[in-house]
Amino acid sequence: MRRNIVLVAAIAVLGAVASTLAQDPQARRLKVLISVDMEGVAGAVTAEQLGPTGFEYARFREFMTKEALAAVEAARAGGATEIVVADAHGNGQNLLIEQFPPDVRVIRSWPRRLGMVAGVDTGVDALIFIGYHAGTNNPTGVRAHTFSSANLARVALNGTNVTEGSWNAAIAGHFGVPVIMMSGDDAAIEEVRKAIGGIEAAETKRTLGFHSALTLTPQASTNLIRERVLAAFGRRQAFKPYRVDGPVTVDVTFKNYMPAEVLAYLPMFERTDSHSVRFRAKDMVEASAIMSFIGDYRPDITP
Ligand SMILES: [Zn+2]
Repeated sequence: MRRNIVLVAAIAVLGAVASTLAQDPQARRLKVLISVDMEGVAGAVTAEQLGPTGFEYARFREFMTKEALAAVEAARAGGATEIVVADAHGNGQNLLIEQFPPDVRVIRSWPRRLGMVAGVDTGVDALIFIGYHAGTNNPTGVRAHTFSSANLARVALNGTNVTEGSWNAAIAGHFGVPVIMMSGDDAAIEEVRKAIGGIEAAETKRTLGFHSALTLTPQASTNLIRERVLAAFGRRQAFKPYRVDGPVTVDVTFKNYMPAEVLAYLPMFERTDSHSVRFRAKDMVEASAIMSFIGDYRPDITP
């Protein structure tokens, strides 16, 4: 008898939840973007893991894909109804797309508007960073750089040095999208949390230097990512978009003289020192487009 009462009560509660879901379309639809870089993947420490010429690259594409998949699975368990994964490292063609479930969509290759968070303007409800790394001015992060380790020595937004994580969070914030979780080394996590607040995080390794880390194994890393993504969805409402209102001022320092010299021919760029230019943009979308131009333009681009 008592068991029947409990059962009836349970059915009533489930019915109430179901009718709430039916009345509120927002409660049913939950689109998640997962931006996946590679330097922050467990075990990645040098160029050997990070590009097609490295002797471990093929295996690390696999590990990168598994970390992304862990986030996909946990996002789905956390209520995601639509998932887009953006390949945001190197040539943008690292993720092994055949390993993803058929309803996942993958953004590949460059150049593309909004860069590492392309797709964040398509009604996304939550953003996740996997495999992220520290910014170029961080003295300890594994493979620390901002956008280009070969070409850039500093990128600052409104006078504060940025990491790719905080820059991309600001682009997402423009569209009202909160970052809810990231994975990467301890330096990368600390930097992004300092900039945008206490998001969930999976520490895949502890930095021991630019080319060294005490790392989790791939299995341990994917388990941790799954757990932290689920934890993030458990308190998703706690995360607010990181908004940087326009207009914004961006300072870029190059490793060489010539990019600064030639960009300063354009009136929109002010040359602030031998290696640096400053520009203003009306918002983060425009700033992102200008940064993409700076990074991608060459007069001999083909096709
Ligand atoms: Zn990368």
